[in-house]
Amino acid sequence: MNDVSPATSADNTDPAAEVHTAHVVAEHGPGDLRGDVWRRFTELFGREPTSLYSAPGRVNLIGEHTDYNDGFVLPFAINRRTVLAVRLREDRMLRVCSDFTDELVELDLDQLNPENLNGWSAYPLGVVWALGEFGADLTAVNGVEIYLESDVPVGAGLSSSAALESAVAVALNEIWHLGFDRMTLARAGQLAENRAVGAPTGIMDQVATLFGEPDSAVFLDCRSLETQVVNLGFAEAGLALVVINTGVRHSHATGGYAERRQSCELGARLLGVTSLREITVSDLPRARDALDDVTFRRVRHVVTENQRVLDTVRALREHGPQAIGELLDASHWSMRNDFEISVDELDLAVETAQMNGAIGARMTGGGFGGAAIALVPFAAISRVQVALDGAFAEHGYAQPDIFVVGAATGAHRD
Ligand code: ADP
Ligand code: MG
Repeated sequence: MNDVSPATSADNTDPAAEVHTAHVVAEHGPGDLRGDVWRRFTELFGREPTSLYSAPGRVNLIGEHTDYNDGFVLPFAINRRTVLAVRLREDRMLRVCSDFTDELVELDLDQLNPENLNGWSAYPLGVVWALGEFGADLTAVNGVEIYLESDVPVGAGLSSSAALESAVAVALNEIWHLGFDRMTLARAGQLAENRAVGAPTGIMDQVATLFGEPDSAVFLDCRSLETQVVNLGFAEAGLALVVINTGVRHSHATGGYAERRQSCELGARLLGVTSLREITVSDLPRARDALDDVTFRRVRHVVTENQRVLDTVRALREHGPQAIGELLDASHWSMRNDFEISVDELDLAVETAQMNGAIGARMTGGGFGGAAIALVPFAAISRVQVALDGAFAEHGYAQPDIFVVGAATGAHRD
């Protein structure tokens, strides 16, 4: 199996080797966990699993804070995955374990209730509950045992949560013969995250991890839930998508996210529409007159970001990835100045990448920390990496984790 080597600040990866490996997009990334997961399942539960499933993390190429405004997003599934081993039980017990905690969580299917789920197991067990909400007859199924591991970094804005939910959803859909389509599985993952975990997130992450295809992004209309696969062609164009995980997580991330959602709802209400999706760039002068400055800038971010997603899809299709750099840069500007969800570390990552050869860069994810992405010509990868390490050291920030990701397949049986 071929790798896209991680280019962390800790190892001095040979730039030539990196350029070479960046061409190759393997589905499982730097660590292929499948053998380990099979073995550790067997040790833990005393018998072999019946099957392995995996689901990828995702990067949002463009379209930030547009999902809950019924707008457009353009994420792609990455070659870092959550891998799980599963086996049906003879009784009604659910038993789940992850190397992330080493805690074995047990629950009787008859006790399943989103209110009494907590900690990490609220994600997998919340998916079980949510499948029931979408019509699965949970009184008629046997319990399962699940062991999982992941090489999706947790809390970095690469959606380790959706990788976990989607791997569980696809596995149970098959072994319980539920017959749900992928969009229903995505909605079950979202419902689990909203109700069992209590995070008010949109559906983008689950769609990306379920609908991803190699070398492609998933263009999602969050109002109609229609998806289109859009070819990225990064490697063919000599480009690599570099993730710069700042490691920063601000305590006001959750509050900030909720506050931005409220501003968007307020803006829509004052403009007389049900969602900001209905506002276009040509409506912005009217919005400026109708809204206070802060609400106007929140609205302007969402409206222009929706347009940038549409422009990015068109640019990719008509001219290829070399043509999307300015759109990525403009997206970052909008998040920093209008939506005000960036932080100094993210701005430094974006500016340093831009100044050292990236054709475009932006923060990605919900904001207030997490990761930035940069679209970088192969020949400039090591320059960008060295410049980032230097810039972060100079500012006294912790070294960022820097690695190349490729666009990979969505959740499936391995
Ligand atoms: P992100 O999705 O950006 O990585 P979230 O805060 O949405 O961050 O989700 C991270 C949470 O998901 C973790 O705190 C943990 O509860 C759960 N999680 C993700 N991956 C795993 C894993 N491999 N094992 C156990 N729990 C996990
Ligand atoms: Mg998440």
